[in-house]
Amino acid sequence: AKRHHTENFAFYAPEIEESTTTQLGMIRKLRSDFADTKLQLWFQPQIDLRSGRVAGLEGLLRWPDGKGGYIPPSEFIPLAEYSGLIVDIGRWVLEEACRRISQLRENGYEQLRVAVNISIPQFRDRYFVEKVKTALDRYNCPSGSLELEITESVVMDEPQIVIDALAALKAHGVAIAIDDFGTGFSSMSYLQRLPLDRLKVDRSFVNDIVPGKNAVIAETIVSLGNKLGLVTIAEGVETQEQARYMTELGCDEAQGYLYARPMPFDDLMQFLSGRQG
Ligand code: C2E
Ligand code: CA
Ligand code: CA
Ligand code: CA
Repeated sequence: AKRHHTENFAFYAPEIEESTTTQLGMIRKLRSDFADTKLQLWFQPQIDLRSGRVAGLEGLLRWPDGKGGYIPPSEFIPLAEYSGLIVDIGRWVLEEACRRISQLRENGYEQLRVAVNISIPQFRDRYFVEKVKTALDRYNCPSGSLELEITESVVMDEPQIVIDALAALKAHGVAIAIDDFGTGFSSMSYLQRLPLDRLKVDRSFVNDIVPGKNAVIAETIVSLGNKLGLVTIAEGVETQEQARYMTELGCDEAQGYLYARPMPFDDLMQFLSGRQG
């Protein structure tokens, strides 16, 4: 980017300057909290709609605010991406996911896969593929127990870099899911160039399902996913009605508050032992 500091300074509106200061402060705090190992990876179950069993988990970052609450990922992930911190944080997420996969396996949950979200700066890191393989090796995880979730915007941003990295990881056995499907500016042609296993129907289309109104976009996306031979998963399922309708449409799996909210690993172990013994 061009730098004209003196010029820019003159045009700064006070409120922009203030929000920039706040954001820089947040980035600084995020960096130090991350260094102090304060970030947590929580898990939300993904349910197989036919059997009702837990088929997988999505790992979701949590940043404690120090007052008993959490700063939402929607606020800090963009800052982590902007600052580049997401490369190190994302690596930690991969390592933590693999560590948890091995704990799950030790407790008899060999079939559960764990999905993590990957941001574009991670793909721009030339060691990304190596880092994923290293994390799997370190914790003796079968490659198929790890899934990477990418959004359409990640693909559109750097198509070739993303496709090459995913192809290498897929060849290694790692599973790949396309996240928030239907919300991005996806070119359908990428769908066939990506080595996908799973397609996640964005929550907004699942929410559209209300009694007496058919949800044509959810229906179209599930049918597209099925025709491409992908496992389809409905995001943000909150009601029985939505679960029933997605099942009728031929959707394979569901994730949402109806089943469970994201929870810390210890709570997850409780949840699993109560649910599938
Ligand atoms: P996402 O990948 O689409 O994750 C699903 C989000 O939907 C999660 O929000 C989850 O808590 C929420 N959710 C699940 N079920 C329901 C439901 O039934 N109703 C509603 N209203 N929401 C539901 P969360 O945890 O706040 O994360 C937000 C976003 O932050 C994620 O969206 C993802 O894009 C990003 N994110 C979270 N963890 C990571 C991470 O480790 N790395 C990266 N790069 N991004 C992450
Ligand atoms: Ca996701
Ligand atoms: Ca999603
Ligand atoms: Ca299917």
